[in-house]
Amino acid sequence: MKILDGKSFALKRRAALTQWVATHRESAGRPPGLTVLLAGDDPASATYVRSKEKAAAKAGIKGEIQRLPSSISENELLARIEALNADPAVDGILVQLPLPGGLDENAVLDAIDPTKDVDGFHPSNSGALWQQRGSVAPCTPLGIMHLLDAHELELSGAHAVVIGRSNIVGRPMAELLLQRHATVTIAHSRTRDLQGLLATADVVVAAVGRPEFVKPEWLKPGVVCVDVGINRTDQGLVGDFQWDGLDQVAQAATPVPGGVGPMTIATLLHNTVCAWSRHTGLPSQPE
Ligand code: NDP
Repeated sequence: MKILDGKSFALKRRAALTQWVATHRESAGRPPGLTVLLAGDDPASATYVRSKEKAAAKAGIKGEIQRLPSSISENELLARIEALNADPAVDGILVQLPLPGGLDENAVLDAIDPTKDVDGFHPSNSGALWQQRGSVAPCTPLGIMHLLDAHELELSGAHAVVIGRSNIVGRPMAELLLQRHATVTIAHSRTRDLQGLLATADVVVAAVGRPEFVKPEWLKPGVVCVDVGINRTDQGLVGDFQWDGLDQVAQAATPVPGGVGPMTIATLLHNTVCAWSRHTGLPSQPE
């Protein structure tokens, strides 16, 4: 089984982006700018945001984290987003989810200038994605596409089953696979006979959030397994696939950790640098 090593590929992509920023920094007149709004004290969110900040700095992106109390009012948060929308040095605005209770996630995401929406969660960006005219796609599914492409895995005509239908992962993942001519099935908690579906899948993307939920014996020989799940257990971080025995059936699989997670961060940098290129009128964007 080929291990789809997201960690080393993400480092390669980040090095290429760093080079790209260094090359274009002078003609752009300023570095790329990314601001992350972190409301509340969720420990997992704090860890993700720190990794994003470090990765941005290494790529030559001017990053800022605004740490906000969980008691912040929606109006105050919206006012901060407005200020960032108006700031010409900011190319990307990322609101770390989940938001503390009481804040309307849709209202907050809708307030972000779509040209600065590096997460691709604004409805005008997700709508454009579904109409195949989007310029930004959510980081996790786009990162997965970059990783699959790097390994030249065949998607055209393949049956891809995406387990999970969130706006962040499952839905945009399905659309990106469809754009690459896969035949896509989206499964979720009400799906009847998931095992029957998986038995016919050439590609399985699991974004469920349940440790070792997908068993190797449910899968078709030669399948490509993409594991989005991040589950903290007594045994450490595990994914949504049962890793033990997977090599007996799969052609390729992403490990957890070191698969999809690092690609998500690399793709956030990619989306930020693309937004910077557009905002500063550079003639091209990174691949
Ligand atoms: P959500 O909780 O929003 O979605 C989970 C999905 O799984 C839902 O659509 C749900 O169905 C479905 N589901 C739950 N139980 C079953 C079941 N028994 N059979 C089939 N489907 C089921 O999660 P996210 O999409 O936000 O994240 C999914 C996982 O990916 C999490 O572990 C998260 O931590 C991880 N993640 C990892 C990232 C990375 O960079 N590696 C980035 C983002 C997320 P229903 O809609 O019917 O409830």
